[in-house]
Amino acid sequence: MNFRTIIEPFRIKSVEAIKFTRREDREAALAAAGYNVFLLHAEDVLIDLLTDSGTGAMSSAQWAAIMQGDESYAGSRSYFRFERVVRDLTGFRHIIPTHQGRAAERILFHTTLKVGDIVPNNNHFDTTRANVEVEGAEAQDLVIAEGRQPSVIHPFKGNVDLGLLERLLDQHGDRVPLVMVTVTNNSGGGQPVSLENLRGVRALCDRYGKPLFLDACRFAENAYFVKLREAGHADRTPKAIAQEMFALADGCTMSAKKDGLANIGGFLAMNDDTWALAARNLLILTEGFPTYGGLAGYDLEAVAQGLEEVVDEAYLRYRIRSTEYLGEKLIAGDVPIIRPAGGHAIYVDARALLPQIPPLEYPGVALVNALYLEAGIRSVEIGTVMFGLHPDGTETPAAMDLVRLAIPRRVYTQSHVDYVAEAVLEVAGRRRELRGYRIVSAPPTLRHFTARFEPLP
Ligand SMILES: *Cc1c(COP(=O)(O)O)cnc(C)c1O
Repeated sequence: MNFRTIIEPFRIKSVEAIKFTRREDREAALAAAGYNVFLLHAEDVLIDLLTDSGTGAMSSAQWAAIMQGDESYAGSRSYFRFERVVRDLTGFRHIIPTHQGRAAERILFHTTLKVGDIVPNNNHFDTTRANVEVEGAEAQDLVIAEGRQPSVIHPFKGNVDLGLLERLLDQHGDRVPLVMVTVTNNSGGGQPVSLENLRGVRALCDRYGKPLFLDACRFAENAYFVKLREAGHADRTPKAIAQEMFALADGCTMSAKKDGLANIGGFLAMNDDTWALAARNLLILTEGFPTYGGLAGYDLEAVAQGLEEVVDEAYLRYRIRSTEYLGEKLIAGDVPIIRPAGGHAIYVDARALLPQIPPLEYPGVALVNALYLEAGIRSVEIGTVMFGLHPDGTETPAAMDLVRLAIPRRVYTQSHVDYVAEAVLEVAGRRRELRGYRIVSAPPTLRHFTARFEPLP
């Protein structure tokens, strides 16, 4: 069919009401939350774009699979289904379930890193960086220069700068136990990595004898971008492209709350027997027996079914197009966003939109809070609050001050997205009225989750 309109490739079987609030209710709720939208009650949010993590709608087939969950402590049938699906997709020998992505990260890094080591990545996600740093190692972001410039258009802004990686491996290779690449690059704007770039990273890893791990949370979105944008892949299935991505790596960490289309779950997978043994031993200590890893049997079923659905081309076409659709509306309204649109989210350049607010007065927080007050929309700052505080206690502006509008999978319809676009344009039209914030209290790490703020006069 040759229609231009790309429709949601599903119909709705079950609905959940969302609550409309008055502006004074939102003002009170935000003040009570210390002007940090993480501390709001979700009930007081109309459209929740805080994250695409675990917030997706499961399919009727996933709910049906949940009823098939085998809750045996050891050797559950649901584990073997999960293992079969993950192995078919990734090809890795050892498939270790975890309750979510950061548990896979913690187990991988705790068993492989020592103080003074360096982990290169295109961009570390916040929990990835924190799990590297807690081991006394250093997380280095080596994304290409285009990936650091919001307005520069490039098809694969998540690519690793191969020159920088080569220099690191050449000068400090003895301190690098593994190389990571995040697909798509969440902290860099949900931007994809090309297969060609992954092959380049693989070649360097081979030359220096280093294992390559994918942070695979959005592997299916990345595979679909390769199909759309990289020469020679237009006729391949997203699954075949994903399989090739995994075949270039020695292992992966995964949050099934993203492209697992599940509400909880994750895994660590790898080929190396020695590393897998250490990982399973730590898993038993902190997550659970290796055939459930902190999950219920029914969770393993939901993830297995989700991993089969996520590579469906009709789903991915709708997914990538609906994010791009929001991006087009904002670009048409002159709102500065990271271009081109990412896979799972639109990232507004709050620093560019609000030049009157210096980075250390958190322009991202100002925009996030204005969107909530104006329209009941919850978004998230990805900027100086999230990345500006260093282990030694000093604070500097992050590379960018972004506001992420993350799109939960299969949850909102086009009219919800139209409403979001209208609200962002309305706030952007009054941008000169927005003021910055100061931090009243904050913990020493991952402060964005629980910090409390105060509006500046
Ligand atoms: C979400 C995410 C993680 C962590 O996964 P959780 O399930 O939230 O623990 C790691 N890396 C990337 C790129 C992510 O998006």
